[in-house]
Amino acid sequence: MSEPIYLDHAASTPVAPEVVDSMLPHFADDYGNPSSVHRWGQRAEASVDRARLEMATVLNCVPDEIIFTSCGSESDNLALRGVLLAARTSGRGEHFITSSIEHDAILHTAKQLRDVYGFELSLLPVDEFGCVAPDVVQAAMRPDTVLVSVMYANNEIGTIEPISEIAAVAHAGGALFHTDAVQAASQLSVDVRALDIDLLSLGAHKFYGPKGVGTLYVRSGAALEPVQTGGAHERGRRAGTSNVPLIAGMATAMQLTAERRKEDVTRFSTLRDRLIDGILSSVPESRLTGHPTARLPNNASFVFRSVDGNELLMRLDMEGIAASSGSACKTGDPSPSGVLLALGLEAEWALGSLRLTVGRSTTDGQIDHVLDVLPGLVNSLRA
Ligand SMILES: *Cc1c(COP(=O)(O)O)cnc(C)c1O
Repeated sequence: MSEPIYLDHAASTPVAPEVVDSMLPHFADDYGNPSSVHRWGQRAEASVDRARLEMATVLNCVPDEIIFTSCGSESDNLALRGVLLAARTSGRGEHFITSSIEHDAILHTAKQLRDVYGFELSLLPVDEFGCVAPDVVQAAMRPDTVLVSVMYANNEIGTIEPISEIAAVAHAGGALFHTDAVQAASQLSVDVRALDIDLLSLGAHKFYGPKGVGTLYVRSGAALEPVQTGGAHERGRRAGTSNVPLIAGMATAMQLTAERRKEDVTRFSTLRDRLIDGILSSVPESRLTGHPTARLPNNASFVFRSVDGNELLMRLDMEGIAASSGSACKTGDPSPSGVLLALGLEAEWALGSLRLTVGRSTTDGQIDHVLDVLPGLVNSLRA
């Protein structure tokens, strides 16, 4: 059998070698607690400060606007819950807006804020490409709207949302704008000033950094109630001893990603387009999901009519090809992805989903191999 082929970079990316190197000294040598007064503490604190400055440089913000968290999900939780609880405390309003194709880290948090905490939620529909229209956001705005959250790019179908336009709508109505940039950050600019956003979530393992660490950018002046309470870490906004090695690794990964962005995006889009053109032309009854042009450079996602998507993933795995259905559904779960249903696809199509996401190590030869085997696999599953 040939070398296995990893086409699931939307789920996680390998840790870049430079990132591993940047983390190592912080485990066994530089192990102090950054909050301690002595030299070990000072050294650890200096490492965290350096990482914060490096993150802030890529995000084009000031270091105090960076909060280190444990993952993208935590950043999303802190953004929504933190802004809404602060707005309730100050009596500014109880209404917030998000879209129906958000990651579960947003969707489940939003529903809990509605159902358990009693906030008012407008969950916006999307068009057939998964776009959230700024007009639709405008129509949902109310005098008591305090937060709008729309993802930068969708993790399943790759659609890039018009976040700056949506931010303008939110700001005109006096609301803050948050974006879940966890999936977008490996390929799109995360310059928060240019994008004009108030809060932005990142997770390091989606941009060649380690798992278990993330960032939430919060524009200075935006009121945020802490969710994890305790010590005064992260200027009182997120308690817990800083994870120095992982924070240092995330900052290196972010810098590397910014440096490589142009080159990565060019390479990824060429590989992606070969997948899209090759699959649509060789597999009958296949459709691209997500926007045809406003999509992440590394994302090729499809539906095939009357195919069991889980079965297809297992057959691909046997061929050494790691892919995803793009949905959260596990083997045996017959429900189609909520994102695909939100596009208006019937279950007969939505159940046959496939997401291929390329990365830095993907080669032309690997794409050739996928294009060789996929049509036959789909045919045999339909027979
Ligand atoms: C992966 C992902 C998350 C969750 O990030 P973790 O760091 O894995 O918790 C949130 N949102 C989007 C869009 C993602 O792709």
